[in-house]
Amino acid sequence: MMERHDVTGLTDDEVMAMLTPEMAEKGERDMERLRAVMGSLTDDTGQTAYSSMLKPCPFCGGRPWVQYFDYKTGLGMEARVVCGECHVSTSRDWESGRVTYLPTGEDVTKALVIEKAIKTWNRRVEP
Ligand SMILES: [Zn+2]
Repeated sequence: MMERHDVTGLTDDEVMAMLTPEMAEKGERDMERLRAVMGSLTDDTGQTAYSSMLKPCPFCGGRPWVQYFDYKTGLGMEARVVCGECHVSTSRDWESGRVTYLPTGEDVTKALVIEKAIKTWNRRVEP
């Protein structure tokens, strides 16, 4: 028996039949981006990690890290970036609900919240 997705109530086959080649291509591009975010993480403790994508702190030049929290209830995750030296931080970026890449069933919630937090942090640095 085919497993139905919680949110859509559709089976994988039904979902795949609705995907146009353009949608599939965009999905692959998005996944490439998100896998790069995950690949940039080091010293991941399950709550904090460093990312090679993070620019230094705009205030003190310190090395920042990502702090994230997983709402195990399935509500989603949130993440922010904190400077390891002066502790300035971005506001929390909230991603409600779990997000799954449909063709593979990969849970991309963590990559999405961390990507958002990195983007917010990097915007603080003047070019
Ligand atoms: Zn700092």
